[in-house]
Amino acid sequence: MSEQHSLFRALPSMNAVLEALIGPADGPPDKKGRGRGTLLCAALPRPLVRESVEDFLQQCRAAIAAGAVRDKEELALPVLLPRITAYVEEACRPHFRRVINATGVVIHTNLGRSPLAPEAIEAVTEAAGAYSNLEFNLATGARGSRYSHVENLIRRLTGAEAALAVNNNAAAVLLTLDSLCKGREVVVSRGELVEIGGSFRIPEVMEKSGCILKEVGATNRTHLKDYAAAIREGTAALMKVHSSNFRIIGFTSVPAREELSALAKRHTLPLIEDLGSGALIDFAAAGLHALAAEPAAAQVLAAGVDVVTFSGDKVLGGPQAGIIAGKAEYIERIKRNPLNRALRIDKLTLAALEATLRLYCDPALALRRIPALRMISEGAESIRPRARKLAALLKKTLAPFDCSLTLRPGASRTGGGAFPELDLPTWLVCLALRGQSPDSLRSALLRSTPPVVARIEDNELCFDPRTLDSSEYPLLAKALEQALHA
Ligand SMILES: *Cc1c(COP(=O)(O)O)cnc(C)c1O
Repeated sequence: MSEQHSLFRALPSMNAVLEALIGPADGPPDKKGRGRGTLLCAALPRPLVRESVEDFLQQCRAAIAAGAVRDKEELALPVLLPRITAYVEEACRPHFRRVINATGVVIHTNLGRSPLAPEAIEAVTEAAGAYSNLEFNLATGARGSRYSHVENLIRRLTGAEAALAVNNNAAAVLLTLDSLCKGREVVVSRGELVEIGGSFRIPEVMEKSGCILKEVGATNRTHLKDYAAAIREGTAALMKVHSSNFRIIGFTSVPAREELSALAKRHTLPLIEDLGSGALIDFAAAGLHALAAEPAAAQVLAAGVDVVTFSGDKVLGGPQAGIIAGKAEYIERIKRNPLNRALRIDKLTLAALEATLRLYCDPALALRRIPALRMISEGAESIRPRARKLAALLKKTLAPFDCSLTLRPGASRTGGGAFPELDLPTWLVCLALRGQSPDSLRSALLRSTPPVVARIEDNELCFDPRTLDSSEYPLLAKALEQALHA
């Protein structure tokens, strides 16, 4: 028997590996109905474990064939088992997972935008695992409306006559225009026809609704008379769009909402506004003057806008959703549109949205409990001690390494298209490893468990505590340790 042949034979069998990892196939299941293994793998679907064990064994065979294995001892099951376990757990873990956002961008579209308030999480959990009165009227025992759960709350918080919630704000814009303007012209300022990221262009969504865009004004300036001159027989509405992550500065002007509203009324047309982020708090009234640039939906409606649309998971800090609020005559037409069925909100979202909106009934409570609002409104003086605490923890992890860890003032961003020019003052924890660029450490952190997303500034890797909960500091330290040893 050749030496290589005996190495191949020494490789443990599939069954032996599976038994060690998750127990015998015909063994009694544990309390959760799974095979009785002691490892994490026991919780995984057996066919997935089998496939990744097969991959692992295949790699071993390739290593033997290439002459990379010399000794049978290297192939003994107890020797291989830790590597197999790590391999299987890595290969079988869910693709969609939690990450640590150390970027300081609060509403990070790529990282899932707003985390939910504890009240919203609880509501989702309850709605997810049981039946509910989603479309059932408990007072009459007859069919109910899924819109009934949040309409009164939205009315109360915005002053609107009527409201509904749909899948997201893009759907809200599409549905509003399809219901009120299909086949007719919508007058909109050239300076507001923006692309907001992910190749999502406002004019394209508007056109998909079947309305005809009538662009007026110049990119930097649009006057009331431009809107007035565009109104004719086939006009369906005037529209304002939040310019999102884009800002025109310098020689600019747009008419006030009150002026546009008066013009729309004279022609019995609706004035529609896509607010994008959709604040529900009057930030100036809450003493947050730096945030006053983002008007609350209630202020916009009070200024004479007939229908507003905004996102549920941007500054509002709730689940992905689109909210449409305004005059009853328009909202009724939107509710009756069959397209609504394709864009409707699901029950988990509805549960989270109602719980989030309830917090807004007391703005001080909303600012404390809704993570996105809390993070946006936190001052640098409160972030500084948190940065110190994080740095102290990371120092322990970094002790064996030649590096510098410093605190310095920096800027966080709101993200989500809100307050595009506004720097939120913060304190950054900045790490530089001597003789190493920060890029490789940044990449290694993305592969840690949990992955950490950090940003590079001035050739240092920076962690911004604004978007970190203190419960995440130990996770970040653990991920950093893994990354440093990778
Ligand atoms: C973000 C945004 C949208 C899209 O909202 P989604 O909830 O992501 O669908 C539409 N319009 C504006 C102005 C936005 O900022």
